[in-house]
Amino acid sequence: MPKKPAAVDRADAAKSARKSAARGAAPTKPKAASKRASKVATRVFTPLADEAPTAALSEVPQAVYGRLSRAAAPLTAYDLIDSVQKQLKRRLHPPTIYRALSQLVERGLVHRLESGSSYIACASPGEPHHSILFVCTQCGTAEEAVDNRVHGLLQEDAAARGFIAESEVIEVRGRCSNCSLPN
Ligand SMILES: [Zn+2]
Ligand SMILES: [Zn+2]
Repeated sequence: MPKKPAAVDRADAAKSARKSAARGAAPTKPKAASKRASKVATRVFTPLADEAPTAALSEVPQAVYGRLSRAAAPLTAYDLIDSVQKQLKRRLHPPTIYRALSQLVERGLVHRLESGSSYIACASPGEPHHSILFVCTQCGTAEEAVDNRVHGLLQEDAAARGFIAESEVIEVRGRCSNCSLPN
C-alpha cells in the first residue's frame, strides 16, 4: 500500500499548529490596529458555504486540485500540466492551468509560494486562516502551519506606521525535520 497522501499529513500538522496558535493568541490588539485590520480581513482565505470545498469546480481546476492534494512537494504549473493532460486525456495550454490555479487560490484551496512560483494544496480548506509556509530547501517539501499570532503582529506593525496591508505571504525557508536529522 502506498503511504498516506502528504495532504493528510499536512492537515494533521496544521491542526496541531492551529491548536497551539489558539492557546498563544493574544487578543490585545490596539483599537487603531483592529480598525485597519478589518480592511485586510476580507483578504483572508475565505471558504465557500458548501461542505465540499471542491464542489462546483470545473474539470481542469478539479484535476489540478486533485494532483496538488496528492503531491508531497509544491508543484509548478509546468509540473502540473503533464499529469492533468494525462488524466483528462486531452491537450491543455499553460494559460488553462494558470487560470485553474488562480481560481483555486481565490477559493482558498491552494496557496501560491512566492519563491519559485509553485503551489501547494491548503491544509485547512474551508476555514478562514492565515498561514505560514515552511519550505525545505533540501527535499523541496512544504508544510503549512496556521498561525494567526504572526498575522496579528504584522497588522500592529503596519497600523503603527499608517500602512494598510493588503496581502501577506509568510514563507520560511530551511530544512524540514527529516532533513535536519543527523545521519
Ligand atoms: Zn491554507
Ligand atoms: Zn526536507
